[in-house]
Amino acid sequence: MTQIAPSTWSNWAGNVRAMPRQIARPADEAELGDVIRMAPGPVRIIGSGHSFTPLVASEGTILDLAAFSGLKAHDATRMTATIGAGTALGTLTQLLHAAGQGLPNMGDIDRQTIGGALGTATHGSGIGLGAYHTQLLNVRLADGRGQIRTISAETEPEMIRAIGVNLGAFGAMTEVTFQNMPSYRLRRRRRALPVGDALTNFDSLLKGHRSAEFFVIPFSGHALHLSYDIVDDPVSTHPPEQDEDGLKTLKMLRNALKFLPWLRRKLIGSAIARLAPEDFVDIWFGAYVSERRTRFNEMEYHLPFEAGARALREILTLMEKQFPEVYFPLEIRSVAADETWLSPFYRRETCSIAVHHDAAEDSTAFFRAVEPIFRKYEGRPHWGKMHSLTARDFAALYPRFTEAMEVRRDIDPENRFISPYLAKILGVGA
Ligand SMILES: Cc1cc2nc3c(=O)[nH]c(=O)nc-3n(C[C@H](O)[C@H](O)[C@H](O)COP(=O)(O)OP(=O)(O)OC[C@H]3O[C@@H](n4cnc5c(N)ncnc54)[C@H](O)[C@@H]3O)c2cc1C
Repeated sequence: MTQIAPSTWSNWAGNVRAMPRQIARPADEAELGDVIRMAPGPVRIIGSGHSFTPLVASEGTILDLAAFSGLKAHDATRMTATIGAGTALGTLTQLLHAAGQGLPNMGDIDRQTIGGALGTATHGSGIGLGAYHTQLLNVRLADGRGQIRTISAETEPEMIRAIGVNLGAFGAMTEVTFQNMPSYRLRRRRRALPVGDALTNFDSLLKGHRSAEFFVIPFSGHALHLSYDIVDDPVSTHPPEQDEDGLKTLKMLRNALKFLPWLRRKLIGSAIARLAPEDFVDIWFGAYVSERRTRFNEMEYHLPFEAGARALREILTLMEKQFPEVYFPLEIRSVAADETWLSPFYRRETCSIAVHHDAAEDSTAFFRAVEPIFRKYEGRPHWGKMHSLTARDFAALYPRFTEAMEVRRDIDPENRFISPYLAKILGVGA
């Protein structure tokens, strides 16, 4: 086992820091069991540190499961794959494609690990497409006593629903089996449209494709609509990524024209309206995934789908009236309802709205002002993104929260995985 002596750890955005007594990298399940039993607590598991909330922070032990990586087995008939929970999505996509399989959907990036994606209900877009945890068939994990347990959807469906979204508080997952589909190609199209049209045709634009999303550009009056549909056409030329250049331009115009909003709107609006539409075919992961280099902080709430357009309108008005510093686009997606107890999509067809703020600038006032709009529409926050909620709020938002906590207590009776932050959001003793 590798043990790294005390050093400061920070997440991708740089807004969460911790000084653990050790970072432990067990090589196998026996070593993992020893760490959970004996290492200084709390024991918090890290994926790739892409969450914005302090889920991973610990003053005791941060557990890195990078050794539990790779494709362990796959079934070409049933389209299932057993994967190490520490596998990065970007590695997984290659392994699955080589095995003739595809993930039914993906989010914006492929830097997360499988364990991390399941930890926070990471999702992509598509009204008929669930988040990653809806693919879960089996989980192998080390519980709070370091014992290995295997849980299967076939024999224990309720347990899979209880632990499918788990915040790293229901044991350390070493292996999962996913239901995948045959590898496929996607046609991705992007076009600009006025925000008014996006709001008027909100439902059909989000629901009219297998997967679709909007990026609304603040202070521009415009949005970009992206759609993804499965096709048999061959792969075509993938146009160069423009997102990072676009962000630089938006920031530059923000800096220059913060106090001339009408000019900012005119310049950005006409530049977006002139953007050439994008239309290409790629293998599934090539179409979903983007590079995100500019660091930001993010708040994303999951709302009842029918509230999406109203909430978006209010948030845009608030931003454009009170927060001229914001230049990142808002991202609007849809997600299918599911049955997982701590899933923000639990029994609710969802519209997800995400707002972003430059990581180098203070986002406190902005997120504090936006959150009540999300809350008004009974939004459930993304577990890995900024929010101010505590266990009492979650108990009201999640009908099976109490039962989930009973399952958690059975898996981790001594609260080895409970840090002060976890105690706050789950309402269990630290
Ligand atoms: C640039 C960027 C883009 C993003 N895009 C999206 C997106 O498109 N859609 C979306 O939904 N989210 C998105 N996110 C959020 C991100 O997907 C989640 O925060 C995700 O949980 C991060 O995965 P990770 O591997 O970094 O996990 P971490 O952030 O390291 O951990 C997340 C949680 O999982 C737990 N965990 C990790 N591994 C295990 C394991 N093996 N066993 C048990 N628990 C474990 C941790 O303890 C923690 O509670 C994005 C974040 C960033 C920074």
